[in-house]
Amino acid sequence: MSHEPGDPLPRSLLTPPAADSRAAAEARHAANAWAVADARHARAAAHAHHAADALNTLRERLRATLGAELLVVDDARYARDDGAEGPFPPGLVVRPRERAEVAELVALCHELGVPLSPRGAGTGTVGGCLADHGGVVLDLAGLDRILDIDERSLLAEVEPGVINAALQEAAEARGLFYPPDPASWKVCSLGGNVATNAGGPRACKYGVTGNFVLGLDVVTGTGEPLRVGHRSIKGVTGYNLAGLLVGSEGTLAVTTACTLRLVPKPSGALTLLASFADEIDACAAVHRCQTGGVVPTALEFADRLCVRALLGAGGLAVPVPDDAKALLWIEIDGDEGGLDASMLRAAQHCRDAGALDISLAGDPSARAQLWDVRRALSHTLRARWPKKISEDVAVPLAQLPALTRAARELGARHGLDVASFGHAGDGNLHVNILYDPAAGPDVAERVHRAVADLFRVTIELGGTLSGEHGIGISKRPYMPLEQSAPLRALQLGLKRVWDPKNILNPGKLFPT
Ligand SMILES: Cc1cc2nc3c(=O)[nH]c(=O)nc-3n(C[C@H](O)[C@H](O)[C@H](O)COP(=O)(O)OP(=O)(O)OC[C@H]3O[C@@H](n4cnc5c(N)ncnc54)[C@H](O)[C@@H]3O)c2cc1C
Repeated sequence: MSHEPGDPLPRSLLTPPAADSRAAAEARHAANAWAVADARHARAAAHAHHAADALNTLRERLRATLGAELLVVDDARYARDDGAEGPFPPGLVVRPRERAEVAELVALCHELGVPLSPRGAGTGTVGGCLADHGGVVLDLAGLDRILDIDERSLLAEVEPGVINAALQEAAEARGLFYPPDPASWKVCSLGGNVATNAGGPRACKYGVTGNFVLGLDVVTGTGEPLRVGHRSIKGVTGYNLAGLLVGSEGTLAVTTACTLRLVPKPSGALTLLASFADEIDACAAVHRCQTGGVVPTALEFADRLCVRALLGAGGLAVPVPDDAKALLWIEIDGDEGGLDASMLRAAQHCRDAGALDISLAGDPSARAQLWDVRRALSHTLRARWPKKISEDVAVPLAQLPALTRAARELGARHGLDVASFGHAGDGNLHVNILYDPAAGPDVAERVHRAVADLFRVTIELGGTLSGEHGIGISKRPYMPLEQSAPLRALQLGLKRVWDPKNILNPGKLFPT
């Protein structure tokens, strides 16, 4: 594992705060640390030797069966995703063009014991698609065909490399709608969306990717092709294996095709941007909307540091009062006839919660301008601070004000800039820790403590470490904060069934 100077600190390198018992255990073991290290080095050397042999054999056999043009060597792109982990250059990248080639490759990796990391578009933020154990990166971007859009059954069949936006466009051209809309929708793959159970602003009304997965064609860790789920809208035959695979981050199987549900395209939509003098007022408006007869398609939030950054970067598409310290974007879609009444109700809820100002947008270009500002937030923060670590914790809705307050206090406590924005309607916030690695010798330690504090508070509020980005490598050390040892052991047992030789994304998700 390497870390370039100046890179954001990979969270996998950070250890969660040691419990007293763990510190005591570490002290007890200190006496034989050298002997343990020697044995580990010997094992690692033998393992590396075996891994190199296995990879060479795999390369030769793949050349003979799949064709040399499907292999890529030395491509630096594959050493990173959009997060802070890596670089982890893979031993080999394989880019299949046909689904059947995936099963062949996985079977060979299984036979030879070579680790394999599936990769969609590499927009993940937790190192999920990286070959941190070496071996093969399986690049699924070439499997990018929309196989079918069945207008009468309201479903689509797609290969995993299809980009989310491409399916949205294809569905809308036929009067249909695919709601899951991660902010990365123009570049992320549907296979990656399924593997991470991606959400987006519209999850507030429609739900996340998993709510639209009917069935999957997959290849298990032994190379066996299986079809799980169904093509019908309902189906409860046997265990819900499609549900298990959704969000399993490429640790149980490789997806080679997805059957996804579509819905009729709403005939209209309206967008509102409200500004508030305080984040807690904005949270109160979220609560009023969610419990007061409005069904928002999206309910997105940004805190005071985000407002400052947006204003500094050229404004908000509409004027906002000077004392604005929080923003809410609210979208309502559906039958055009009923939209005005719903939007007026949402605006009234914002006013009752103390909104300073409200801008309404009806025509598509004005709405797009408001959403462009929201979508630009991540890049705006990244452009202004040298380093940014973005967490995506989620809490029960009633705890949103407490989470917002806690995120604000993190900054003051650890002497860091902390900006929060995101999917307030789902209680899912992107808490961004922004810093300059050159700011002082202890900055990495302060970032570490801030992340650990955020996770601890989130769990205390009844929340979860990740609302949408997943665990991957980055959040793996923190899993014990949320899940008990028996629960983790049960899941690792499931992994042994799907992937007996532990070749698919080995070591991800669960700390070992
Ligand atoms: C600017 C930006 C905005 C983002 N906004 C959001 C957001 O709003 N909501 C959200 O949920 N996420 C968001 N993300 C994170 C990311 O885009 C999502 O997690 C997305 O689903 C990843 O898709 P991908 O194709 O890039 O997958 P990758 O990054 O390539 O892989 C992600 C994981 O999926 C596995 N995987 C990929 N393809 C397959 C397959 N066919 N079979 C099995 N496993 C597979 C990989 O092994 C890895 O564990 C954002 C990222 C960026 C950079």
